[in-house]
Amino acid sequence: MDLITKCIALGMAAAAAAGLAINGVRGSLPQSSSQIMNTSQVDPATGLTFRTTPPEREDRLILSDAEWKKKLTPEQYKILRNHGTEPAFCGVNLESKGEGAYHCVGCDLPLFNATEKFDSGSGWPSYTSPYNKDNLWYRLDMSFGMRRIEVLCARCDGHLGHVFEDGPPPTGLRYCINGTILKFKPKEKAAS
Ligand SMILES: [Zn+2]
Repeated sequence: MDLITKCIALGMAAAAAAGLAINGVRGSLPQSSSQIMNTSQVDPATGLTFRTTPPEREDRLILSDAEWKKKLTPEQYKILRNHGTEPAFCGVNLESKGEGAYHCVGCDLPLFNATEKFDSGSGWPSYTSPYNKDNLWYRLDMSFGMRRIEVLCARCDGHLGHVFEDGPPPTGLRYCINGTILKFKPKEKAAS
């Protein structure tokens, strides 16, 4: 498995070529995003548009840090609210569970269809496309010396994982998601 090496090489090459120095996009999101102008840019590798502020939604869920700590388990909080990453092959939501959808544990928004799930061998649940493109948003993540596209929940701004351009057809994308922050709902119970 040489994905990390590949990722570092690609990230460095892309950053050098573009002369990119967009740092400081990680960390806490502004509570009032409307006061800060969004800038967006198309990522040449994935074709996805990454943004600096969350998209507007009527059903946004904004809670205080204390409220999030109450609502989530420590593991879920670490990933969703603090940009953590679960260990590979931790087993949570890694195996197929039949028809249904994977929802955000923070706000219950459906994020991925079970039909889009595939075994990437990476040790994290992997999907080729989102449940609905409006349910996710993307941010440029330059941490750890890599250039990656971070995947976030569009309703609660929770950190979900990253998206890479080495997935299977037809999208060619691999949404590499932390299973800890996904809640599987079988088809008959899945809300749309
Ligand atoms: Zn959410």
